[in-house]
Amino acid sequence: MRRVSVFGATGSIGCNTVDLLQRQGGGDGFHVVALTGGRNIALLARQARALRAELAVTAYEEFLPDLRDALAGTGIEVAAGNRAIAEAAARPVDWTMSAIVGAAGLEPGLVSMRHGGILALANKESLVTAGDLMHREARKHGARILPVDSEHSAIFQALQGEDHAAIERIILTASGGPFRDWPLERLHEATPEQAVAHPNWDMGQRISVDSASMFNKAMELIETHEFFDVTPDQIEVLVHPQSIIHSLVGFVDGAVMAHLGPPDMRGAIGYALNWPDRAPLPLERLDLARIGRLDFEAPDETRFPAIRLAREVMRRGGLTGAVFNAAKEVTLDAFLDHRIRFTDMAVIVEKVLETMDRHHDLQDEMTDLQSVLAADAAARKRTTEAIASHQANRG
Ligand code: NAD
Ligand code: MG
Repeated sequence: MRRVSVFGATGSIGCNTVDLLQRQGGGDGFHVVALTGGRNIALLARQARALRAELAVTAYEEFLPDLRDALAGTGIEVAAGNRAIAEAAARPVDWTMSAIVGAAGLEPGLVSMRHGGILALANKESLVTAGDLMHREARKHGARILPVDSEHSAIFQALQGEDHAAIERIILTASGGPFRDWPLERLHEATPEQAVAHPNWDMGQRISVDSASMFNKAMELIETHEFFDVTPDQIEVLVHPQSIIHSLVGFVDGAVMAHLGPPDMRGAIGYALNWPDRAPLPLERLDLARIGRLDFEAPDETRFPAIRLAREVMRRGGLTGAVFNAAKEVTLDAFLDHRIRFTDMAVIVEKVLETMDRHHDLQDEMTDLQSVLAADAAARKRTTEAIASHQANRG
């Protein structure tokens, strides 16, 4: 029986993963080793019981007693804290879902690759912060990283049976988010509540705001560069408000292969779960006649400076991605707390990239997890200072 673990099981991607595992037999179809979550203990306990997991882990030590109570008498082991999550990742499995949000997802993914197998990677931050390291670990242990982000799953599927040398360009689609049509001069007024309301995809709060600011697309540009070994110049962004075409690949002969489907993450998760085969998935079937039309436009980089920043990050390489991601996470928190405005996020991230690039050798090769975590911590500190001085200046 296939052994599986799900990191970030209680999140948006995690719940969809658990749903697919249940539809494919649950505890009878899989040996579920570890499920991890955060504060939603009731949900984590429900999932662990339903899938008869070996182990349930909450990221937060203070919730351990609750988790222990919720699973009392089931024989399911419980644990808490980041160490416990990394230890859960060290238990051998054949398939791991990496769906923790943010830089916290990096270590469990790295650890889980040590026993080979498949790492289904929703946590794009892993490739943005530590692409080199992820690839090195995968090669060393014979692990296989599969994309779960819808765009990258689309590209991966469009590339099946193709020769890498035949790729001319990759076209990443972007919905453009809720502010695509807002007048530019009003964009600074956008609130977290408005940013969270994504028109097509039902996602976690943080990635929803990242979609509205296009920081999510910026991260995905870097993720594309890392996953498919293409140069920054080979990656284009195309705004496509309906989110039906999940991305496209252009080949040297001018042919373009697109991947289409309803906006439902279970498509990409299910592909990674069943790869290299395909299995029936509970997705709404695409009805193009009913949809009627698909629209496209070029991205507006004045409105969304994150795209330009991502190209700069790819050009610099090394630890720049770790700084970019950390600065983005800290400014995102400040925006969610109403401490800075929507448009301030990119301004501050750019400032942090510039000052840190001047003072550190960010373009040096990343040696190990420690160097990535150190760059991450330094960037968080620098960003917190930049936010404080930004607030002071605004009075
Ligand atoms: P989410 O916020 O819904 O869930 C995050 C999960 O991580 C939860 O289980 C939470 O408990 C856990 N978690 C949060 N902080 C943690 C920490 N510090 N330590 C350990 N666990 C922690 O997020 P999501 O939308 O499911 O996204 C998960 C990942 O997948 C992100 O990297 C995101 O970019 C990526 N992704 C999501 C979608 C989507 O549609 N939701 C699409 C593509 C990629
Ligand atoms: Mg995506």
